[in-house]
Parts: sequence; structure tokens; C-alpha cells
Amino acid sequence: MYNKVMVILRDINTVDALIDKVISYNPEANADLLRRAYAFSNEVHYKQKRKEGAPFIQHPLAVAAILCEMKMDTNSIAAGLLHDTVEDTGTTEEDIRALFGEDVAFLVESLTKLSKIEFRTSEDAQAENFRKMFLAMAEDMRVILIKFADRLHNMRTLEYLSPAKREKIARETLDIYAPLANRLGIGWLKSGFEDLSFKFLEPDVYNELVQKVAKKREEYEGYLHEVIKIVEAHLKAASIPGDVFGRVKHYYGIYQKMQKQKIPFELVYDVIAIRIITGTQSDCYAALGLIHSLWTPVPGRFKDFIGAPKSNLYQSLHSTVIGPKGERVEFQIRTEDMNRIAEEGIAAHWKYKEADHADKLDDKYFSWLREFVKLQKDTPDAREFLEAVKGNMISGVVYVFTPEGDIVELPQNATPVDFAYSIHTEVGHQCTGAKINKRIVPLRYTLLNGDTVEIITAQGHTPSRDWLKFVRTQKAKARIKQWLKVEERKKGLSLGQELLEKALLKYNLSPALAKSKEILAIARPFRINTHEDLFVAIGYGRISVHKLINKLLPESEKDEKEIIPAHKDERKTEEGKGIRIEGIDNIMFHRAKCCYPLPGEKVTGFVTRGRGVSIHIVNCPTLDTNTIDMDRLVDVEWTGDESTHTVKVQVLTVDKRGLLAELSAVLSTNNININHLEASATYEKQALFNFILEIRNKRQLDQIMKKMAQINGVIEVKRVQA
Ligand code: MN
Repeated sequence: MYNKVMVILRDINTVDALIDKVISYNPEANADLLRRAYAFSNEVHYKQKRKEGAPFIQHPLAVAAILCEMKMDTNSIAAGLLHDTVEDTGTTEEDIRALFGEDVAFLVESLTKLSKIEFRTSEDAQAENFRKMFLAMAEDMRVILIKFADRLHNMRTLEYLSPAKREKIARETLDIYAPLANRLGIGWLKSGFEDLSFKFLEPDVYNELVQKVAKKREEYEGYLHEVIKIVEAHLKAASIPGDVFGRVKHYYGIYQKMQKQKIPFELVYDVIAIRIITGTQSDCYAALGLIHSLWTPVPGRFKDFIGAPKSNLYQSLHSTVIGPKGERVEFQIRTEDMNRIAEEGIAAHWKYKEADHADKLDDKYFSWLREFVKLQKDTPDAREFLEAVKGNMISGVVYVFTPEGDIVELPQNATPVDFAYSIHTEVGHQCTGAKINKRIVPLRYTLLNGDTVEIITAQGHTPSRDWLKFVRTQKAKARIKQWLKVEERKKGLSLGQELLEKALLKYNLSPALAKSKEILAIARPFRINTHEDLFVAIGYGRISVHKLINKLLPESEKDEKEIIPAHKDERKTEEGKGIRIEGIDNIMFHRAKCCYPLPGEKVTGFVTRGRGVSIHIVNCPTLDTNTIDMDRLVDVEWTGDESTHTVKVQVLTVDKRGLLAELSAVLSTNNININHLEASATYEKQALFNFILEIRNKRQLDQIMKKMAQINGVIEVKRVQA
């Protein structure tokens, strides 16, 4: 049984102890460098104290000790000793460079940059933080390992901080550091981060669990002893080399099982696990066969991570069997090398090689990581890694690749159009199609992690309003809207000019007046300063052409006294609220009285003369395409609108007392106001009710009509459209 995190390096309290330890695994280590780094750090931090009251130097020393436990190179350990100097003291990067060389200076600089990341809880910020860590890591793995050591020591002394800080740091450790350590395959750090976070985030649950495990410790040990004895004997008899260890799983792992299965601690069966460390890969399978011949395997619990290693290089065989007492026991079977990788992960490869050897090592062992970072082609591994990244720590983000292999980060559910706009506005505007991993997909395709995205463009192609329905990024939305606005202004402009010129002709005035100074003078009360603005205002129906022209006419020919800005009287009525036309706000609208369209229904707009845009249901008979001016039709759509709208509903019933009360009851229990009601009896002993109701949207109308139709005695419920 071990809990490495808790026990390491209690004994390293001095630089001499540290150096002894480093020399023990790396006889060539530069002891002088470490001694100088320690002396320097001690000097510049001398005024500082840790929160617990200890001299500050204890912290960098502890960080260096953890790095030494990870058997890191001397420069990393020196950087561990110096990691807070630039951040906390007057030391500069140049000082570090001059005294300790380029490599140490680089590490300290990277750590200083990383420490400036303010971790926030919002998902975006978290994704960004992760991205920065990921990039720092890609540049030099050692940076993240030193960062881990720093965080581990801070977690171990967390109790001295305020409860709020404690919670924040513990949460961040659990959310970011533990999954990251896991991804890098550093098992002991992952469990260490988890247990320490757990301890501070859920102290009561944690303490109770610690006590419960302690109480059963003797029982566990007896059981483990028995199983180990049996396994060892059989391994020996079969001539399979191997050492057998037992352990109690880490607290957070047990807690997760309790939570996932919604069971108390007493019912968690696999609190203990047994590990067989054997010689070769084939010994692993031989040992597995032996275990399976001794005890019955639990179906579905066998996993071969030797044949199919995890992307963090973890290799092992896992199987759960029904043990000697009828209890389930989990076995992990692996070689010595595999075990080292499982425990130390990436750190296992990053041993005490000095910087000049390190590069080669780096290339050999970290090529897989570099692959991910370079956003290479859609290898299953890259996808798996990024998927895990997404699932583990940055939900809400996808990473995709350009055809050149550059990475692009987009929000989840982003589409090729978002991708196109993220590359360049023109690429977005001219985007006509997309290829994902060389296959053509629709523009509304949802991008997945690891997709390689190629955008097909065509010169002169323009954005579509439909895109707004599926794009996810602010950038794409803003660019599309901007384009539409410019485009719609152009449309409104020519329509407005045309309407004005036609109207002038109708009043026997010169169409040239449309571009005159006089007309601008008249339009000034509308806060219009240019002819363009005037045409646009007319095109959108914000200004009545007739009222405008009226002002131009001689007194005798005027038919109205005053020009009233059209939007002014429209504001009184709230009509048009919740409708959007071609990306423009503040247009004068009204719902057509013929069809009373509702939010949720397909509608179209008709530019009236001077009364703004009237909104009709798409197939409203009033909009007979043979008789109306098609140029005046504009695309409109509902926005999220919570106001109510009047609708005419006609109900035909048998002539029975109390039916009106029942109908009213249905309406009032559904919070629907009756604006107006007319009732009449028909000659066939039937009653006809004409309601004008205040309805929110089409769905609400459909529901209420259905409910009314279900009332006993109701013959027909219909909406009156014209
Ligand atoms: Mn620190």
C-alpha cells in the first residue's frame, strides 16, 4: 500500500539533502548549479513568509524535491528552486539568464507566464487556460512538470489559506490539473491531485471515508495477504516471474464509484486492487490465463491495454474476477516498464538527462504529443486525445485543423461557416461549400474534434441569411449581419428612391425633386441628413411618402396639415415588436388585419405606402402574387418575443347553457386574455362565438384551440384569417 503523494520527501529539508538525492540517480548532476540556485532563491525570497509562517524558501525547496522524486534533469530542479523569483521578487529574466544560463531562464520565464494565467470558472476562460498550458507543454514538457510540482506543494499546504481561496484552488486542481496529469499518464500525481482536492472540497465526506477505510484496513490486509499468497504460489508453479502487490484504491476513486453507482461505501466492492508486475508481455497474458483459471472472470470487465494502449501510453491488462471469498477483485497485470509508465507517465521518459541529451529523448518519446499539438491529420489517436480533453476539461470547445495542419479552436457545434469566418471575413462571405476530411459536407455540418476542414469558395458569392440560424461564433454572426445590413440598405435605398419618384410623378411633381435640397429640408425633422438616408427610410417604410410630398405641395393641394414621423405613432401601439426585417431594427411594422400572423408562423413582409411594412402569413390570400408588386415583398422573421398578439378565433357549438363559461374557463386557466367576444345563435340551434384573443405564439394558439375543441358540445374551432 502506498500513497506516494503524502509521503514523498518529508526528509528533504535542506539543499544538501536535495543534492544527495539528485546525485543518487544522476551522478553527473551539476551540484554547483543547484547550490547556487538555492542560495539565490533563498536570498531574494528572504523577506517572504509562507502563509503557514515558514520561511518562503521551503516552498521552492519542496518543489525541487518533488521534481527530484520525478528524477528530473538538473536544470528543471534549478528552475523549481527559482520558479517564483521573477514573479515575486525584483529579479528579472536577464538576471536568471546571466546567472543560470539560457535553459533555466527559459523554464523560469515559461513558468512566470503560466502563473499569470488567472483561472476563472467560466468555460471559455478554462478552455483558454487549458490551451495555454497545452502550448507551454508542447514547447517544453518540463514546464508543465515543474508546474505540477508547484501545484502539488501548494495543495499540500492549502489549509493555511482562506476558505474561499482554498476552494478555488482545489476546484481548479480537480478540474484542470488532475485530468491533465491523467492525460500525461502520471498516475500518482493524478490520484494525488484528486485526493487533495477532495479533502478540501468535501472535507466531511473525505474524513468519513478516510475513517471507514482505516477501520477496514486490517480486514483488507488479511484478505490481500491471502489472495497474494495464492497468486504467488500459482505463478511460481507455472514458472511465471512476478511480484504481487495489493493496494486500497485512492479515496477520490472510491468516492467516484459511490457517486456513480449511488451506493454507500459499504457496497463498493472493488476498494482493493491487486497488481502483478511480471517480466515480459507474454508473461502478462500467461499470468492473466492463470488468474482466470483460478477464479471466474466477471464478464465485460476484461480490458487489454497492452494490445491497445491508451493514448497516454498506458499499458496493462485489467480483469475483475470473483475472488476466493466470492468477492470481486480487480487485477492489473503489467511489466516493470509498463508499470513505470503507468505511474510516472510522461515523466518516466523525462529522466535526468541533461539538456543536450534531452532533445533527442524528447523527440523519441514525445513525438505523439507533438503530433497532437501540430494538429496533424485526423489520426484516431489525436481525435481520442482531443475528445478526452474536451470531455475532461474543456467542454464547449472543438479543435479542428486547416488543410495545412494548423489548429483552429471553435465553440462546440461550430460549423464550416464559423471556421471560414475564423480564417478570414472574405473566406466566410465567399464560402459555398466545405470538405471535411476530404468529403463534401453541408455548410451546417457540426464540426468534430480532429476534423480537417477545407473551405470551398467562389468569387462573388455572398452570405445567406440562413447562415445566421446555425453559426455559433460571434465573429461569423457579426460579419454576416454586417454584410446583410449593407446589402439590405442597398435594397431599401433603391426601393425608396423608386417609391418617392413614382409618388412625385403621381402628384405631377418632378421626379428630380427626389434629389433636391427642398426634400431634405422637409425630411430634417426625421433626423435625416442625406438623400441616401431618406430613400432608405422610405424603402423601409419608416417615412410616409405621401406625408412627405404633402409638405411639398402648395397649401391648397395639401390633404393633411402636419407631417408626423411615422415611427412616432407606431410606437404607441407596440405593434411590430418582435419582428425583424433583413437585419434592420426600428422599422415600422404592423400585423396585417387580414390574417393576424403569430410568432412561430412563416411570415412575409409587404412594404406599404407610408404605413411601413405589413406582416402577413406567407400564404395569406391578400398577397395575391398576380396583383401585388412583388418588389415590395421583403423577408421578415420573428424574434424571441414575449408580448401577446390578437387573433380571431371562431367557435361553433351546440346551443347549450354554460358552454361560454366553459370556454372562458379554458382560456383563463391558460392565462389568455379575451380582448373581444361576440356571440350569436344560428338557426340550426347552434351558437357561434367570435373571440379576439391575446396570444403569444402559434404553438399557444394551437394548444388552446385544441383544448376548446375538446369541450363537450363544441362542434368546430377555427381561426379566422380574412
Ligand atoms: Mn510556487
